[in-house]
Amino acid sequence: MKRPFHKDIIDIFKSNENTVLQHLLAVAEKCRRESIGNEVYPRGLIEFSNNCSSNCLYCGLRKNNHLLLRYNLNREEIVALARTAYELGLQSIALQSGEIASEARVDFLVDIIKRIKDLGSQDANQSIGITLSVGELSYQQYMKLWEAGAHRYLLRMESSDPILFRAIHPPSQSYHRRLECLDALKDIGFQVGTGVMIGLPGQNYEHLAMDLLFFQERDIDMLGMGPYIPHPDTPLARVKADTISDPYNTTIKMMAIARLLMPDINMVASTALQSMHADGLIMGLKAGANVVMPVLTPEKYRPNYALYANKAYKPLAQLQTEIQEAGYELALWKWGDSAHYHRRRGIA
Ligand code: SAH
Ligand code: SF4
Repeated sequence: MKRPFHKDIIDIFKSNENTVLQHLLAVAEKCRRESIGNEVYPRGLIEFSNNCSSNCLYCGLRKNNHLLLRYNLNREEIVALARTAYELGLQSIALQSGEIASEARVDFLVDIIKRIKDLGSQDANQSIGITLSVGELSYQQYMKLWEAGAHRYLLRMESSDPILFRAIHPPSQSYHRRLECLDALKDIGFQVGTGVMIGLPGQNYEHLAMDLLFFQERDIDMLGMGPYIPHPDTPLARVKADTISDPYNTTIKMMAIARLLMPDINMVASTALQSMHADGLIMGLKAGANVVMPVLTPEKYRPNYALYANKAYKPLAQLQTEIQEAGYELALWKWGDSAHYHRRRGIA
C-alpha cells in the first residue's frame, strides 16, 4: 500500500469492509517491524494527583466536578512507586496529574523528579526515564522540569481543529496556547508527544484526517490517541456524538495510518482503547502501538483518577503475557526512547 493521502484516509475511515481493516493492519504491522521492530516499551504510570485547575468539558477531573474526591500523593509515596517500577524493570515512568495551578506545585514536581533520577545508579543509562503529563505551563516552568531531569512530555491537542477544540474547552483554554506549549517543549529539547480523542461530539472523519496530517507536519516524537469515553459528571456527556459511530475501530484505523505516516515514532496503546474493549491492547499493538502504560497508582486512589467512566486496569504480568502471545516483546530494563526523536536531533 502506498502512503495514504487525505482522500484515501477518509475512504478508509468510511469503509465498513473487514478486508480494508485487515489490509491496513497488515501493512501497518510490516511497517512497524521494519522501522522499530517488535519491542513494546512500558511506562509505569503514576497518577500522582487528580486536582486540576482546568475545566475541559469532557473530563471527569475538571475543576467544576465537585462530585469527585480529590487526592494528592505525597513525595514519599511517589518516590516509593518509582522505586517499585525500577525494581520491576520498568525503566521509564510517566508522572501524570490534572493541570498544575501553582509555582509551589511545579517546585514539588521538580523535587520529585530529582529524587527519582537519584534512584538509578550514577550511570546515566541506568537512571529512570521520566515522562511528564501535567498540562499547560510556562516556558520557564517547562525548563525547570527539563533541568530537573524529565525528558519526555505528553500534551494532547485533543483536536487539531480550532473550532472543535473551542467546542470542547471553556473560553479560558485556548488553541493557540496549546500550540505554544507544544512549541516550547520542542524548543527546550523534550521528546514531545501529542494526540487526540476519537469520537467526540461534533467530530467527523475530515477532522481525523487533518489530525494525522497535523501530527506529521509538527514532526512529533510520540503519539497517544484513544476513543472519547463520556464521563457522566461532565457537560460534554450531555451531547451525543453524531458522525463517528464506531470510535473503537476508528481509533484502530487512526493508529494504523499514523504508523504508516510516521514509521519511527513511539505510539501508545491507550488505556481508553483498552477500557472500551477486552481486545483493545492486542488491536492497538497490531495497529502499530509500541508503548504501554501499566498503572502503578495505588488501588485506593484509582477510582478517583476518573478521566472517563469504567477505566480498565491490567496488571503488569497480564500485560506481559498478552504482549508475548501476540508476538511482541515487553522491553524491560530499557528507556525505550522515540527513535524519531533521535533521528530528528541527529543523535546516533
Ligand atoms: N491534565 C493533563 C493530563 C491528564 S488528562 C492534560 O490534560 O494533559 C490526560 C488525557 O486524558 C487528556 O489529554 C485527554 O485526552 C484524556 N481524557 C480526558 N477525558 C477523557 C474522556 N472523557 N475520554 C477519553 N479520554 C479522556
Ligand atoms: Fe484537567 Fe487534563 Fe482533565 Fe483537562 S484533560 S480537565 S487538564 S485532567
